[in-house]
Amino acid sequence: MRHASILSTWARNVAPSPTLAVDAKAKALAAAGKDVCGFGAGEPDFDTPEFIKEACIKALRDGKTKYAPAAGVPQLRELLAAKYQQENGINGVQSAQVVVSPGGKFSCYLAILSMISPGDEVIIPAPYWVSYPEMVKLAGGVAKVIFAGQELDFKITPDQLRAAITEKTRLVILNSPSNPTGAVYTRQEIEALVAVVMASENVYLMSDEIYEYLLYDGMTHYSPASFSSEVAERVITVSGFAKTFSMTGWRLGTLVAPPVIAKAVAALQSQTTSNATTFAQYGAIAALEQPQAARAAVAEMLQVFNRRRQLLLKGLRSISGIECARAQGAFYLFPKIESFGLDANAFADRLLDAEQVAVVPGGGFGAEGYVRLSYATSDSVIERGLQRLERFCKSLG
Ligand code: PLP
Repeated sequence: MRHASILSTWARNVAPSPTLAVDAKAKALAAAGKDVCGFGAGEPDFDTPEFIKEACIKALRDGKTKYAPAAGVPQLRELLAAKYQQENGINGVQSAQVVVSPGGKFSCYLAILSMISPGDEVIIPAPYWVSYPEMVKLAGGVAKVIFAGQELDFKITPDQLRAAITEKTRLVILNSPSNPTGAVYTRQEIEALVAVVMASENVYLMSDEIYEYLLYDGMTHYSPASFSSEVAERVITVSGFAKTFSMTGWRLGTLVAPPVIAKAVAALQSQTTSNATTFAQYGAIAALEQPQAARAAVAEMLQVFNRRRQLLLKGLRSISGIECARAQGAFYLFPKIESFGLDANAFADRLLDAEQVAVVPGGGFGAEGYVRLSYATSDSVIERGLQRLERFCKSLG
């Protein structure tokens, strides 16, 4: 504690990531020889597709080992502009509106930092991805959380959003498909929320679409910025390569924004990290230049994820006392465990100690009474984990 006074407001206020903490504890138990069933991971358990790795290796051999322009390698920015026009339907995107960052997390942070001044309010639907409120705090902003539980399929309503907007609101965050719930908003639902945003002057929308390809049950992804050019002027679309192409360790995030915001984001990046790793960007170029190979890799992964989703969902629903919504995106399920009379932290701690099953407690996602399970793990872990979870729940009575 002797040096605590040297810590800044930002360092004192920021909470460490609870998802990484669970992961660390589970890994420590595994290292000590315990047979852990881990449902904590926020990353696909597949390797990066070979053709993407090869392109990066070639880039290294070709000497792409120097600084790149802060906003990204021009060829990658151009390919991304084309992807957002053709695939996501956002009209007229120019490469100047695209910024490539070291990870989607940093893209989100810079988007927030570029628009939020101390005291500004940011509306965050809960359950939320753990980092949004912390990023808002780091910008000096105020996070205003609106909650949509299982009874609302974890999706906020236009009335809730309207009621939360004040004169100080600058930004609304939308994340579909969602981490931690796997919820996916329909086009109609997004349109209704966008209408509320558009009715309030000076309010912008950050649409985090990092799980855009990870959809099941015939769901379709919609980018709000594709609705009209007026809407596009108020939307910052954030995504990345991590979840789609199993590239979490590559650290490559993307952002598409109105030119003024994109320019500010690039300036912030130029003074903090400079560019995303140069040769890694060449792997991303291959992913976009070979859409057929990329699509095939994603389709293969999706098939496996879908099978595991159904296995885990069926198993969770068969355990007395657990309620679980049918998530239609990402690779998470978010069951309600309230009926056991333990808070989510105690539930997760005791489950890990008693049965060596790692789940993430809902508190860090703004949702007490729930836990998050990732099915980015093997069928065998899912089957064994479910048996242990059932035994644990029975022991709680
Ligand atoms: N957005 C959401 C909702 C996420 O779940 C994550 C990662 O867990 C990210 C953004 C950032 O991903 P990355 O920084 O690995 O690209």
